[in-house]
Amino acid sequence: MTFSEHPIETPPRAPSPVHGFGTLAVHAGSPHDPVTGAVIESISLSTTFAQKGVGQPVGIYEYSRSANPNRDNFEKAVAALEHARYALAFSSGSATTANILQSLAQGSHVISVSDVYGGTHRYFTKVALTHDVKVTFTPSMEIDITDLIRPETKLIWIETPSNPTLRLVDIRKVASIAHDHGILVVVDNTFLSPYVQNPLDHGADIVVHSVTKYINGHSDVVMGVAAFNSPELFDRLSFLQNAIGAVPSAFDSWLAHRGLKTLHLRAREATKNATALAHALESSPHVISVNYPGLPSNPQYSITLKQHRDGMGGGMLSFRIRGGHEAAERFCQATRIFTLAESLGGVESLVEVPAAMTHGGIPQDQREAAGVYDDLVRVSCGIEDEADLTADVLQALEKAVVGPKIKNGVANGNDHA
Ligand SMILES: *Cc1c(COP(=O)(O)O)cnc(C)c1O
Repeated sequence: MTFSEHPIETPPRAPSPVHGFGTLAVHAGSPHDPVTGAVIESISLSTTFAQKGVGQPVGIYEYSRSANPNRDNFEKAVAALEHARYALAFSSGSATTANILQSLAQGSHVISVSDVYGGTHRYFTKVALTHDVKVTFTPSMEIDITDLIRPETKLIWIETPSNPTLRLVDIRKVASIAHDHGILVVVDNTFLSPYVQNPLDHGADIVVHSVTKYINGHSDVVMGVAAFNSPELFDRLSFLQNAIGAVPSAFDSWLAHRGLKTLHLRAREATKNATALAHALESSPHVISVNYPGLPSNPQYSITLKQHRDGMGGGMLSFRIRGGHEAAERFCQATRIFTLAESLGGVESLVEVPAAMTHGGIPQDQREAAGVYDDLVRVSCGIEDEADLTADVLQALEKAVVGPKIKNGVANGNDHA
């Protein structure tokens, strides 16, 4: 199972959808039950399926790891929303990354943006080596890519926006150079969701999601998905999906599919809230700087306009607070609606201090080179009321900059989110 040695031939695209995003989110992969007429699919818990004769299953299913109705329906829905011909679901976002990296031949080389998700960085630096796959990191993919490509380079890994500084990558620019060299481009689209950005439309070959975040959206499922157009990729990745077996349960597939049906509503509210907060933070005297791709003042706003639906910035932002790390910690403890926690993309708003939490494992000099200062606060906007969220942030800022020294600081060194 290796990627082809030849320049990438653009595979046939998925047919252009006739319907808008909301209609697809509600109806794609959601057939009525042909026997009972049930509008909502049942949860198919059976691990095995009866056969009429040896090798003649009654329907299309044999064994639930290989395929089951709930996973199939979820995959169809994600494929529709990402403008892909195929989607494959995995037991987590991390398992999705592992399956893609596992599909590379021994000795392959990967180029990745530097500020990837912590778990992805961990896989690239500590696990991929076990089958001799090497990863080079770059903070400026668009500029460095040509110099970094080697004969054995097989994959480019992009996260846009990045975590937690929300830097963007021009997907089309990277993909056109990569494709000249027969290299596939993967985009981790977790931070925006398919509602705000469809990377395959900008030239990416594979789009991946931690479904745990926006797609499920209710902070109660850990799951991942990859979507793409190439039948060759489908053969390789579906083989590994079954062979490795890191698959989601029928129940999780059902829950994630239910969550996905309201993705457009949630993504719009989260963006509206994040936009209001970004403006409020930008004009606060207690804030040094704001990272939000939806602000016209953002230096990469032209990429936002090119790649995101209606120039939306998504629900994630980060900002540097005046008063250093102490003020950042005090802020996160002073909010009343925002919960201090890792992860993102749920209906509830969250705050965290990356330097001490999600990115605590990265040495300080490397962290600061990537813009992750001790005073950086990351915010995941949920779908509560905009006025309440803005008021909460403003009152917490007031408390944080004048508040007392905090003794029991937040936990150190995790990189879960
Ligand atoms: C959370 C996350 C992942 C990993 O997903 P899990 O479902 O936690 O394994 C990968 N990429 C990004 C950008 C994430 O936020």
